[in-house]
Amino acid sequence: MAKIGFLGLGEMGTPMAGRLHRAGHEVVVWNRSAERTVPLAQEGAAVAASPAQSAAGADFVITMLATPEALEQVLFGTAGLAPALSPGQVLIDMSTVGPEEVRSVAARLPKGVSLVDAPVRGSVLQAESGRLDIFVGATDRDYERVRPILEALGSVRHTGGPGSGAAMKLVANLALGSAIVTLGEALSLGESLELKRDVMLDVLADSPIGPIVAAKRANVESGQFAPSFKLRHAAKDLRLVTETAAARGRDLKQARANRAWLDEAAEHGAADLDFSAVVATISGEEPWAERR
Ligand code: NAP
Repeated sequence: MAKIGFLGLGEMGTPMAGRLHRAGHEVVVWNRSAERTVPLAQEGAAVAASPAQSAAGADFVITMLATPEALEQVLFGTAGLAPALSPGQVLIDMSTVGPEEVRSVAARLPKGVSLVDAPVRGSVLQAESGRLDIFVGATDRDYERVRPILEALGSVRHTGGPGSGAAMKLVANLALGSAIVTLGEALSLGESLELKRDVMLDVLADSPIGPIVAAKRANVESGQFAPSFKLRHAAKDLRLVTETAAARGRDLKQARANRAWLDEAAEHGAADLDFSAVVATISGEEPWAERR
């Protein structure tokens, strides 16, 4: 069993840290808003007073944070984690931050500290039940070190060297963004043609976007978008997709259009709702605006 620092107890980090603790690892948690450490502390996890403190004696430190900016803050801000890491320790970043950020962080860590990027596919339910898909960018040696830890959280795939996990996650979320916007536009077209929504959803369930219909149909039909994957994060991911592609001379026209829909939904007040709320923005019916 290992000693693991775990930083970032949001929707995903909380169940992930809980699973590692229940698997028998010695887990030390930290979160910017301290109240979110309480449930894990009650289960017996230790709580660090700062990111730096979470590194003391740890074999691995895992970060599960919102954005590249949050990761920067936690690693290099006041009482930050990075200067507190020592040779032999492994930092596993599981946030979705893109490959440029991973490479930039790797270049600034103390000598002898390994960085493994291991972002995840799947949401809160999969995090709770240990069924995440984990994309691991690591050297062969580091991959063998982190694999037993990550297997408590889901199925682990070695995508290549450092940075490749973060890159694969952008590929996966390009497809996710495309599917949810396609669902919204398909329903919008059908509604303009006076088709019934439930019949359209039945038909779309058997189309190439079937999995997103199955996952998000209840939200769309109820007009309730309690966050599992926050829309602000989906918008951030499409920002990373389009910026990363542009930096490599690729013009992803559909990804840019999908990003524009997510940004519009966020501007209309859906940033902290589930990302499926973009379907309501596309249809021009935003129930949360009426409820305010
Ligand atoms: P979340 O619920 O919004 O939690 C975000 C975490 O980041 C919280 O612990 C938050 O701390 C922390 N944070 C934000 N800004 C910070 C800052 N400036 N300094 C320090 N800490 C900061 O997000 P989540 O859903 O758990 O997602 C975490 C990551 O996983 C994101 O990169 C997301 O894109 C990715 N992801 C999410 C899902 C999903 O379905 N939810 C699925 C796959 C991947 P506070 O508690 O203090 O705000």
